[in-house]
Amino acid sequence: MALIVMKFGGSSVADAEAMLRVAQRVVSTHREGNQVAVVVSAMGDTTDDLLDLAAQITPGPPPERELDMLLSAGERISMALLAMAIERLGVPAKSFTGAQAGMVTDTSHGHARLLEVQPERVRATLDAGGVAIVAGFQGISTDDDITTLGRGGSDTTAVALAAALDADVCEIYTDVDGLYTADPRIVPTARRVTRLTIEETLEMAAHGAKILHLRAVEYARRFTVPLHVRSSFSDQEGTWILVGRPLTEDTMEEPIISGIAHDKSLGKVTAVGIPDRPGAAATVVGAVAKAGVSIDMIVQNVSTSDAETSDISFTIPEADGQTAVAAIRALQDEMGFADVLYTSHVGKLSLVGAGMRSNPSVASELFAALADAGVNIEMISTSEIRISVICDQADLERAVRAVHTAFDLDAEEQAVVYGGTGR
Ligand code: ADP
Ligand code: ASP
Ligand code: MG
Repeated sequence: MALIVMKFGGSSVADAEAMLRVAQRVVSTHREGNQVAVVVSAMGDTTDDLLDLAAQITPGPPPERELDMLLSAGERISMALLAMAIERLGVPAKSFTGAQAGMVTDTSHGHARLLEVQPERVRATLDAGGVAIVAGFQGISTDDDITTLGRGGSDTTAVALAAALDADVCEIYTDVDGLYTADPRIVPTARRVTRLTIEETLEMAAHGAKILHLRAVEYARRFTVPLHVRSSFSDQEGTWILVGRPLTEDTMEEPIISGIAHDKSLGKVTAVGIPDRPGAAATVVGAVAKAGVSIDMIVQNVSTSDAETSDISFTIPEADGQTAVAAIRALQDEMGFADVLYTSHVGKLSLVGAGMRSNPSVASELFAALADAGVNIEMISTSEIRISVICDQADLERAVRAVHTAFDLDAEEQAVVYGGTGR
């Protein structure tokens, strides 16, 4: 008998019919003799709809405690309906809010981090032969308030629950048949990847492949939780995310491209003419971090205006553009730099795969493919298993398709996107 955590995303439970289909799937896994804990997201676009509602009530940013209270309601609706659907099929089921399931978080509303998972009630339900359903994306803070884990956070709930229950596998059910070499909504000929290492998955998730919440992948690595990403709409095998890549003789020394991730919601800030002295980068970057904005790619070079100064450019989430610019402007007098420039609508393409660094041809092929597609590269960064480039957002989707083809990743068949709006 295995213990399985099954997580269903919003598109898998978008309406009553979908909910009943998911219930069937849960019940058949249970009837095969497994213990089953389910994590469920809000139905369809409920979270976005609740955010829109809040925006109609308050002109500015809503009070964060109340926003979390509001958003957590989306997952409550799903968990109760799914429990009813499973009961109807003759299997006892009990739903639990994040708080009831023992998801204890810190107090940072909107992006709370899990501190501890105490799944006693979930465990008791499983031991009594029932199915436990846990609301994803939410927890209870050390101050006893309801918190949420950030958009896409139900994946993290699922992995954390799987780790706490010592589950055999955490199955992530979504609206595509697994992890593909690129987002199938952008590249219809994307190829499904059957197995991927956790490191490659981390790079894909960190650089925009929203199929998995980054923190879920980090958690899975830390607690060695096997992940199986698959569709709730089909019986396809999906993608297994493994701790070590299975090497075969012919692939051993080859650079292996596992996929292309893209992120179309970035902005770029440049502080121009910073006096070239030790500590300058630390001050600039420190100020942005202190404002709560996470910096992604950083480039420093000799200023275009003179040789005594340098320019520092970095990318940030587009939504944080104004906050980051204000944080840098506040330093302008003290540091004596010339100007702060901001570009919104910046896109990032990341090519992920093992053996990148030791195979210089990968970078040159990537740049050549972008040049052929007429895409201008604004920034470049590399890691052992990734090369990322920054370009204009308007060029991004074309760039992803061109690079996908240049690296021979196109499949014969088109990938199926079963549902969801991709929001
Ligand atoms: P869920 O509602 O199940 O959590 P998400 O919308 O969060 O689903 O994630 C699934 C979506 O992720 C897919 O519909 C697809 O558009 C997108 N996606 C982005 N990159 C990839 C990729 N490399 N492989 C598969 N899907 C991807
Ligand atoms: N419902 C939340 C969201 O839309 C959490 C999730 O779906 O993972 O972001
Ligand atoms: Mg998701």
